[in-house]
Amino acid sequence: MQYDHILIRYGELGLKGKNIRTFLIKLQQNIQQSLITYPDVKVKRTQGRLFVILNGHDPDPIIDICKNIFGIYSLSLAVKVKNDEREIRETVLKMMSKETENKTFKIKAKRANKDFPIRSLELNRSIGGDILKNVPHLKVDVHHPDIEVVIDIRAEGTYILTEIIYGPGGLPVGSSGKSLLMLSGGIDSPVAGYVMMKRGVKLEMIHFHSPPFTSERAKQKVLDLTKKLTKYNYHIKVHLVPFTEAQQLIFKHYPKRYGMTIMRRVMMKISEAICQQENILSITTGESLGQVASQTMESMNVINEVTNLPVLRPLIAMDKEEIVDISKQIDTYDISIQPYEDCCTVFVPKSPVIKPQRKRVILIEKDYDLTEAIKTAIEETKIIKISHTNDEAIDELL
Ligand code: ATP
Ligand code: MG
Repeated sequence: MQYDHILIRYGELGLKGKNIRTFLIKLQQNIQQSLITYPDVKVKRTQGRLFVILNGHDPDPIIDICKNIFGIYSLSLAVKVKNDEREIRETVLKMMSKETENKTFKIKAKRANKDFPIRSLELNRSIGGDILKNVPHLKVDVHHPDIEVVIDIRAEGTYILTEIIYGPGGLPVGSSGKSLLMLSGGIDSPVAGYVMMKRGVKLEMIHFHSPPFTSERAKQKVLDLTKKLTKYNYHIKVHLVPFTEAQQLIFKHYPKRYGMTIMRRVMMKISEAICQQENILSITTGESLGQVASQTMESMNVINEVTNLPVLRPLIAMDKEEIVDISKQIDTYDISIQPYEDCCTVFVPKSPVIKPQRKRVILIEKDYDLTEAIKTAIEETKIIKISHTNDEAIDELL
Protein backbone atom coordinates (compact mmCIF):
# COMPACT_ATOMS: atom_id res chain seq x y z
CA MET A 1 0.00 0.00 0.00
CA GLN A 2 1.38 3.40 -0.96
CA TYR A 3 0.06 6.88 -0.40
CA ASP A 4 -0.87 8.32 -3.76
CA HIS A 5 -2.65 11.56 -2.82
CA ILE A 6 -2.21 14.54 -0.51
CA LEU A 7 -5.47 16.09 0.64
CA ILE A 8 -5.18 19.86 1.12
CA ARG A 9 -7.40 21.68 3.65
CA TYR A 10 -7.78 25.43 3.43
CA GLY A 11 -9.14 26.67 6.75
CA GLU A 12 -9.73 30.38 6.39
CA LEU A 13 -10.78 30.20 2.76
CA GLY A 14 -13.97 28.56 3.95
CA LEU A 15 -15.13 32.00 5.06
CA LYS A 16 -15.03 33.57 1.64
CA GLY A 17 -18.48 32.52 0.39
CA LYS A 18 -18.89 33.14 -3.29
CA ASN A 19 -15.25 34.05 -3.81
CA ILE A 20 -14.16 30.61 -2.77
CA ARG A 21 -13.71 29.42 -6.36
CA THR A 22 -11.28 32.23 -7.22
CA PHE A 23 -9.33 31.61 -4.04
CA LEU A 24 -9.16 27.89 -4.70
CA ILE A 25 -7.97 28.40 -8.25
CA LYS A 26 -5.24 30.72 -6.94
CA LEU A 27 -4.20 28.16 -4.33
CA GLN A 28 -4.23 25.41 -6.93
CA GLN A 29 -2.02 27.51 -9.26
CA ASN A 30 0.39 28.38 -6.45
CA ILE A 31 0.79 24.75 -5.41
CA GLN A 32 1.27 23.64 -9.01
CA GLN A 33 3.86 26.37 -9.55
CA SER A 34 5.77 25.44 -6.39
CA LEU A 35 5.94 21.86 -7.65
CA ILE A 36 7.37 22.88 -11.00
CA THR A 37 10.28 20.48 -10.57
CA TYR A 38 7.77 17.61 -10.44
CA PRO A 39 6.02 17.94 -13.80
CA ASP A 40 4.01 14.74 -13.39
CA VAL A 41 2.68 15.68 -9.95
CA LYS A 42 -0.74 17.22 -10.53
CA VAL A 43 -2.94 19.41 -8.37
CA LYS A 44 -6.66 18.68 -8.84
CA ARG A 45 -9.81 20.35 -7.63
CA THR A 46 -12.89 18.21 -7.05
CA GLN A 47 -16.03 19.54 -5.37
CA GLY A 48 -14.21 22.28 -3.53
CA ARG A 49 -11.38 20.02 -2.40
CA LEU A 50 -7.79 20.06 -3.45
CA PHE A 51 -5.62 17.03 -3.97
CA VAL A 52 -2.02 16.66 -4.96
CA ILE A 53 -1.68 13.50 -7.04
CA LEU A 54 1.76 12.06 -6.36
CA ASN A 55 2.15 9.77 -9.36
CA GLY A 56 4.60 7.54 -7.53
CA HIS A 57 6.79 10.32 -6.05
CA ASP A 58 8.09 10.24 -2.48
CA PRO A 59 5.61 12.40 -0.54
CA ASP A 60 8.08 13.84 2.01
CA PRO A 61 9.81 16.55 -0.11
CA ILE A 62 6.45 17.49 -1.61
CA ILE A 63 4.92 17.91 1.84
CA ASP A 64 7.89 20.10 2.82
CA ILE A 65 7.16 22.39 -0.13
CA CYS A 66 3.44 22.51 0.72
CA LYS A 67 4.24 23.54 4.29
CA ASN A 68 5.33 26.95 2.93
CA ILE A 69 2.32 27.62 0.73
CA PHE A 70 0.02 30.19 2.28
CA GLY A 71 -3.65 29.25 2.22
CA ILE A 72 -2.92 25.64 3.20
CA TYR A 73 -4.30 25.06 6.66
CA SER A 74 -3.45 21.38 6.92
CA LEU A 75 -2.75 18.38 4.77
CA SER A 76 -2.98 14.62 4.96
CA LEU A 77 -1.51 11.80 3.00
CA ALA A 78 -4.28 9.69 1.54
CA VAL A 79 -4.76 6.44 -0.29
CA LYS A 80 -7.45 6.36 -2.93
CA VAL A 81 -9.35 3.11 -3.41
CA LYS A 82 -12.53 2.06 -5.23
CA ASN A 83 -15.86 2.42 -3.47
CA ASP A 84 -15.67 -1.21 -2.55
CA GLU A 85 -16.15 -2.42 0.98
CA ARG A 86 -13.58 -5.21 0.78
CA GLU A 87 -10.92 -2.97 -0.70
CA ILE A 88 -11.56 -0.27 1.94
CA ARG A 89 -11.41 -2.81 4.76
CA GLU A 90 -8.18 -4.40 3.54
CA THR A 91 -6.46 -1.06 2.98
CA VAL A 92 -7.30 0.23 6.46
CA LEU A 93 -6.16 -3.02 8.01
CA LYS A 94 -2.86 -2.94 6.13
CA MET A 95 -2.31 0.67 7.19
CA MET A 96 -2.96 -0.06 10.86
CA SER A 97 -0.91 -3.25 10.87
CA LYS A 98 2.15 -1.05 10.38
CA GLU A 99 1.64 0.46 13.85
CA THR A 100 4.05 -1.23 16.21
CA GLU A 101 3.31 0.60 19.47
CA ASN A 102 0.39 0.49 21.88
CA LYS A 103 -1.94 3.18 20.61
CA THR A 104 -5.60 4.09 20.57
CA PHE A 105 -7.60 4.65 17.41
CA LYS A 106 -10.96 5.62 16.05
CA ILE A 107 -12.50 4.93 12.64
CA LYS A 108 -14.45 7.82 11.18
CA ALA A 109 -16.29 6.98 7.98
CA LYS A 110 -17.89 9.85 6.04
CA ARG A 111 -20.38 8.81 3.41
CA ALA A 112 -20.74 11.84 1.13
CA ASN A 113 -21.72 9.38 -1.59
CA LYS A 114 -25.05 8.03 -0.38
CA ASP A 115 -25.04 5.36 -3.11
CA PHE A 116 -22.50 3.48 -1.05
CA PRO A 117 -24.56 0.69 0.53
CA ILE A 118 -23.11 0.58 4.06
CA ARG A 119 -23.84 3.34 6.55
CA SER A 120 -21.02 5.18 8.30
CA LEU A 121 -21.71 3.89 11.81
CA GLU A 122 -21.88 0.33 10.64
CA LEU A 123 -18.61 0.71 8.74
CA ASN A 124 -16.90 2.27 11.78
CA ARG A 125 -17.96 -0.61 13.96
CA SER A 126 -17.08 -3.44 11.63
CA ILE A 127 -13.71 -2.10 10.42
CA GLY A 128 -12.85 -1.15 14.03
CA GLY A 129 -13.66 -4.74 15.03
CA ASP A 130 -11.37 -6.08 12.31
CA ILE A 131 -8.48 -4.00 13.60
CA LEU A 132 -9.02 -5.04 17.24
CA LYS A 133 -9.00 -8.66 16.19
CA ASN A 134 -5.90 -8.44 14.00
CA VAL A 135 -3.69 -5.83 15.68
CA PRO A 136 -3.95 -6.65 19.40
CA HIS A 137 -1.86 -3.73 20.71
CA LEU A 138 -4.33 -1.18 19.32
CA LYS A 139 -7.35 -0.11 21.40
CA VAL A 140 -10.39 2.00 20.58
CA ASP A 141 -10.82 5.50 22.04
CA VAL A 142 -13.61 7.48 20.40
CA HIS A 143 -12.91 10.72 22.30
CA HIS A 144 -9.14 11.25 22.21
CA PRO A 145 -7.64 8.68 19.86
CA ASP A 146 -3.92 8.70 18.99
CA ILE A 147 -4.86 7.84 15.42
CA GLU A 148 -8.05 8.86 13.66
CA VAL A 149 -8.62 6.95 10.45
CA VAL A 150 -10.87 8.94 8.13
CA ILE A 151 -12.67 6.97 5.42
CA ASP A 152 -14.02 9.57 3.03
CA ILE A 153 -16.44 7.96 0.58
CA ARG A 154 -17.05 10.21 -2.43
CA ALA A 155 -18.46 9.82 -5.93
CA GLU A 156 -15.05 9.38 -7.56
CA GLY A 157 -13.67 6.93 -4.97
CA THR A 158 -12.79 6.56 -1.32
CA TYR A 159 -9.89 8.35 0.35
CA ILE A 160 -8.35 6.84 3.46
CA LEU A 161 -6.19 9.09 5.59
CA THR A 162 -4.77 9.28 9.08
CA GLU A 163 -2.17 11.87 9.98
CA ILE A 164 -2.85 15.61 9.91
CA ILE A 165 0.12 17.83 9.10
CA TYR A 166 -0.28 21.56 9.68
CA GLY A 167 0.45 24.09 6.94
CA PRO A 168 1.20 27.79 7.40
CA GLY A 169 -2.43 29.02 7.18
CA GLY A 170 -3.03 32.51 5.77
CA LEU A 171 -4.35 33.26 2.29
CA PRO A 172 -2.96 32.23 -1.11
CA VAL A 173 -0.39 34.72 -2.38
CA GLY A 174 -1.99 36.84 -5.09
CA SER A 175 -5.51 36.57 -3.69
CA SER A 176 -5.23 39.94 -1.89
CA GLY A 177 -3.66 42.02 -4.66
CA LYS A 178 -0.15 43.38 -4.98
CA SER A 179 2.05 45.67 -2.91
CA LEU A 180 5.42 47.30 -3.51
CA LEU A 181 7.73 46.39 -0.63
CA MET A 182 10.41 48.95 0.21
CA LEU A 183 13.21 46.50 0.83
CA SER A 184 16.36 47.66 2.58
CA GLY A 185 19.07 45.23 3.58
CA GLY A 186 17.90 45.34 7.20
CA ILE A 187 16.06 42.90 9.44
CA ASP A 188 12.61 44.48 9.33
CA SER A 189 11.56 44.89 5.72
CA PRO A 190 11.91 41.21 4.69
CA VAL A 191 9.78 40.30 7.71
CA ALA A 192 7.20 42.90 6.66
CA GLY A 193 7.14 41.25 3.23
CA TYR A 194 6.64 37.82 4.74
CA VAL A 195 3.77 39.00 6.92
CA MET A 196 2.00 40.59 3.94
CA MET A 197 2.48 37.51 1.78
CA LYS A 198 0.86 35.48 4.50
CA ARG A 199 -2.21 37.67 4.08
CA GLY A 200 -2.29 36.77 0.38
CA VAL A 201 -0.43 39.82 -0.96
CA LYS A 202 1.84 39.39 -3.95
CA LEU A 203 5.00 41.51 -3.75
CA GLU A 204 7.30 43.46 -5.96
CA MET A 205 10.40 44.95 -4.33
CA ILE A 206 11.88 48.42 -4.58
CA HIS A 207 15.40 49.05 -3.37
CA PHE A 208 17.30 52.35 -3.37
CA HIS A 209 21.03 52.08 -3.75
CA SER A 210 23.76 54.69 -4.03
CA PRO A 211 26.83 53.37 -5.79
CA PRO A 212 29.73 53.89 -5.24
CA PHE A 213 28.78 54.81 -1.64
CA THR A 214 26.93 51.53 -1.31
CA SER A 215 28.69 48.40 -2.55
CA GLU A 216 27.78 45.60 -4.96
CA ARG A 217 27.56 43.39 -1.89
CA ALA A 218 24.85 45.58 -0.38
CA LYS A 219 22.84 45.19 -3.59
CA GLN A 220 23.49 41.45 -3.64
CA LYS A 221 22.21 41.24 -0.07
CA VAL A 222 18.85 42.61 -1.18
CA LEU A 223 18.71 40.13 -4.05
CA ASP A 224 19.57 37.30 -1.64
CA LEU A 225 16.80 38.40 0.72
CA THR A 226 14.38 38.47 -2.19
CA LYS A 227 15.47 34.98 -3.18
CA LYS A 228 14.60 33.76 0.33
CA LEU A 229 11.13 35.24 0.00
CA THR A 230 10.49 33.53 -3.36
CA LYS A 231 9.81 30.45 -1.28
CA TYR A 232 6.37 31.97 -0.70
CA ASN A 233 5.95 34.08 -3.85
CA TYR A 234 7.45 32.17 -6.74
CA HIS A 235 8.70 34.98 -8.98
CA ILE A 236 9.54 38.42 -7.59
CA LYS A 237 10.45 41.55 -9.53
CA VAL A 238 13.00 43.85 -7.89
CA HIS A 239 13.11 47.52 -8.93
CA LEU A 240 16.61 48.86 -8.29
CA VAL A 241 16.59 52.62 -8.08
CA PRO A 242 19.88 54.52 -8.58
CA PHE A 243 19.67 57.02 -5.75
CA THR A 244 23.14 58.58 -5.60
CA GLU A 245 22.40 61.80 -7.41
CA ALA A 246 19.15 62.54 -5.58
CA GLN A 247 20.77 61.82 -2.23
CA GLN A 248 23.74 64.04 -2.93
CA LEU A 249 21.48 66.88 -3.98
CA ILE A 250 19.35 66.46 -0.86
CA PHE A 251 22.31 66.65 1.47
CA LYS A 252 23.83 69.53 -0.47
CA HIS A 253 20.81 71.81 -0.78
CA TYR A 254 18.76 71.30 2.38
CA PRO A 255 19.66 71.63 6.08
CA LYS A 256 21.45 68.42 7.16
CA ARG A 257 19.01 67.77 10.00
CA TYR A 258 16.15 67.55 7.52
CA GLY A 259 18.04 65.37 5.03
CA MET A 260 16.60 62.14 6.37
CA THR A 261 12.99 63.34 6.26
CA ILE A 262 13.31 64.74 2.76
CA MET A 263 15.11 61.66 1.54
CA ARG A 264 12.26 59.49 2.83
CA ARG A 265 9.71 61.69 1.10
CA VAL A 266 11.62 61.31 -2.14
CA MET A 267 11.77 57.54 -1.70
CA MET A 268 8.00 57.52 -1.22
CA LYS A 269 7.44 59.63 -4.35
CA ILE A 270 9.60 57.32 -6.44
CA SER A 271 7.87 54.27 -4.98
CA GLU A 272 4.51 55.76 -5.89
CA ALA A 273 5.66 56.32 -9.48
CA ILE A 274 6.81 52.69 -9.74
CA CYS A 275 3.43 51.57 -8.36
CA GLN A 276 1.70 53.55 -11.09
CA GLN A 277 3.89 51.98 -13.77
CA GLU A 278 3.26 48.48 -12.48
CA ASN A 279 -0.38 48.92 -11.55
CA ILE A 280 0.30 48.28 -7.84
CA LEU A 281 -2.16 49.70 -5.33
CA SER A 282 -0.11 50.01 -2.12
CA ILE A 283 3.36 50.41 -0.61
CA THR A 284 4.65 48.25 2.26
CA THR A 285 7.48 49.21 4.64
CA GLY A 286 9.24 47.56 7.56
CA GLU A 287 8.68 50.52 9.87
CA SER A 288 8.00 49.94 13.55
CA LEU A 289 6.87 52.76 15.77
CA GLY A 290 9.59 54.48 17.76
CA GLN A 291 12.45 52.36 16.44
CA VAL A 292 14.53 55.17 14.93
CA ALA A 293 14.25 58.88 14.10
CA SER A 294 12.28 58.34 10.90
CA GLN A 295 9.74 56.18 12.68
CA THR A 296 8.12 58.60 15.09
CA MET A 297 4.49 59.56 14.60
CA GLU A 298 5.59 63.03 13.41
CA SER A 299 8.06 61.59 10.89
CA MET A 300 5.56 59.14 9.50
CA ASN A 301 3.01 61.92 9.20
CA VAL A 302 5.37 64.08 7.17
CA ILE A 303 6.79 61.24 5.07
CA ASN A 304 3.38 59.77 4.30
CA GLU A 305 2.03 63.09 3.10
CA VAL A 306 3.60 62.83 -0.36
CA THR A 307 1.49 59.88 -1.46
CA ASN A 308 -2.17 59.01 -1.67
CA LEU A 309 -1.45 55.33 -1.85
CA PRO A 310 -2.06 53.26 1.27
CA VAL A 311 1.27 52.72 3.04
CA LEU A 312 1.06 49.38 4.81
CA ARG A 313 3.26 48.92 7.87
CA PRO A 314 2.61 45.42 9.15
CA LEU A 315 5.32 45.64 11.85
CA ILE A 316 4.22 48.97 13.24
CA ALA A 317 3.26 47.63 16.67
CA MET A 318 5.72 44.78 16.95
CA ASP A 319 8.70 44.64 19.29
CA LYS A 320 12.14 44.20 17.78
CA GLU A 321 12.42 40.77 19.47
CA GLU A 322 9.25 39.54 17.75
CA ILE A 323 10.56 40.77 14.41
CA VAL A 324 13.94 39.11 14.96
CA ASP A 325 12.19 35.85 15.87
CA ILE A 326 10.28 35.84 12.59
CA SER A 327 13.39 36.74 10.59
CA LYS A 328 15.18 33.74 12.10
CA GLN A 329 12.22 31.52 11.38
CA ILE A 330 12.12 32.57 7.71
CA ASP A 331 15.91 32.41 7.46
CA THR A 332 16.50 36.02 6.45
CA TYR A 333 18.22 37.05 9.70
CA ASP A 334 21.72 35.85 8.79
CA ILE A 335 21.62 37.72 5.49
CA SER A 336 20.19 40.87 7.10
CA ILE A 337 22.96 41.15 9.67
CA GLN A 338 25.75 41.11 7.07
CA PRO A 339 27.52 44.44 7.53
CA TYR A 340 27.11 46.03 4.10
CA GLU A 341 25.96 49.60 4.25
CA ASP A 342 22.58 50.71 3.03
CA CYS A 343 22.08 54.10 1.34
CA CYS A 344 20.24 55.46 4.36
CA THR A 345 23.09 54.58 6.69
CA VAL A 346 25.74 56.12 4.44
CA PHE A 347 24.09 59.52 4.21
CA VAL A 348 22.45 59.66 7.60
CA PRO A 349 23.14 62.91 9.48
CA LYS A 350 24.45 62.78 13.06
CA SER A 351 21.33 64.26 14.60
CA PRO A 352 18.32 64.06 12.30
CA VAL A 353 15.21 65.93 13.33
CA ILE A 354 13.03 63.50 15.26
CA LYS A 355 9.78 65.44 15.21
CA PRO A 356 9.69 67.18 11.83
CA GLN A 357 6.85 69.61 11.14
CA ARG A 358 4.97 69.38 7.93
CA LYS A 359 4.85 73.12 7.24
CA ARG A 360 8.55 73.55 7.86
CA VAL A 361 9.53 70.65 5.57
CA ILE A 362 7.36 71.94 2.74
CA LEU A 363 8.96 75.36 3.11
CA ILE A 364 12.48 73.92 3.08
CA GLU A 365 11.75 71.84 -0.01
CA LYS A 366 10.92 75.07 -1.89
CA ASP A 367 14.62 76.02 -1.72
CA TYR A 368 15.58 73.48 -4.31
CA ASP A 369 13.66 71.60 -7.01
CA LEU A 370 14.32 67.87 -7.09
CA THR A 371 11.84 67.07 -9.88
CA GLU A 372 14.53 66.35 -12.49
CA ALA A 373 16.59 64.14 -10.18
CA ILE A 374 13.47 62.18 -9.26
CA LYS A 375 12.54 61.77 -12.92
CA THR A 376 16.03 60.50 -13.79
CA ALA A 377 16.03 58.03 -10.89
CA ILE A 378 12.71 56.61 -12.09
CA GLU A 379 13.88 56.40 -15.70
CA GLU A 380 17.11 54.67 -14.77
CA THR A 381 15.52 52.12 -12.47
CA LYS A 382 16.47 48.58 -13.41
CA ILE A 383 14.31 45.52 -13.03
CA ILE A 384 15.70 42.19 -11.92
CA LYS A 385 13.46 39.13 -11.84
CA ILE A 386 14.16 36.52 -9.21
CA SER A 387 12.73 33.06 -9.35
CA HIS A 388 12.62 30.39 -6.65
CA THR A 389 14.00 27.36 -8.39
CA ASN A 390 16.18 28.55 -11.16
CA ASP A 391 19.12 30.90 -10.78
CA GLU A 392 19.40 31.26 -14.54
CA ALA A 393 15.98 32.86 -14.46
CA ILE A 394 17.59 35.92 -12.87
CA ASP A 395 17.70 37.85 -16.09
CA GLU A 396 18.65 41.47 -15.94
CA LEU A 397 16.40 43.51 -18.18
CA LEU A 398 18.53 46.49 -18.93
P1 ATP B 1 14.95 47.67 8.01
O1 ATP B 1 15.43 46.67 9.00
O2 ATP B 1 13.84 47.15 7.17
O3 ATP B 1 16.08 48.29 7.23
P2 ATP B 1 15.08 49.78 9.90
O4 ATP B 1 14.54 49.52 11.25
O5 ATP B 1 16.54 49.71 9.68
O6 ATP B 1 14.31 48.83 8.86
P3 ATP B 1 14.99 52.24 8.46
O7 ATP B 1 16.36 52.00 7.94
O8 ATP B 1 14.63 53.53 9.05
O9 ATP B 1 14.53 51.20 9.52
O10 ATP B 1 13.97 51.97 7.29
C1 ATP B 1 12.59 51.97 7.48
C2 ATP B 1 11.93 51.34 6.27
O11 ATP B 1 12.21 52.11 5.10
C3 ATP B 1 12.50 49.97 5.96
O12 ATP B 1 11.87 48.96 6.71
C4 ATP B 1 12.21 49.85 4.50
O13 ATP B 1 10.88 49.48 4.27
C5 ATP B 1 12.44 51.27 3.99
N1 ATP B 1 13.81 51.43 3.50
C6 ATP B 1 14.89 51.85 4.17
N2 ATP B 1 15.99 51.88 3.38
C7 ATP B 1 15.60 51.47 2.15
C8 ATP B 1 16.25 51.27 0.89
N3 ATP B 1 17.54 51.51 0.73
N4 ATP B 1 15.51 50.83 -0.14
C9 ATP B 1 14.21 50.58 0.01
N5 ATP B 1 13.53 50.74 1.17
C10 ATP B 1 14.21 51.18 2.23
MG1 MG C 1 17.43 49.91 7.75
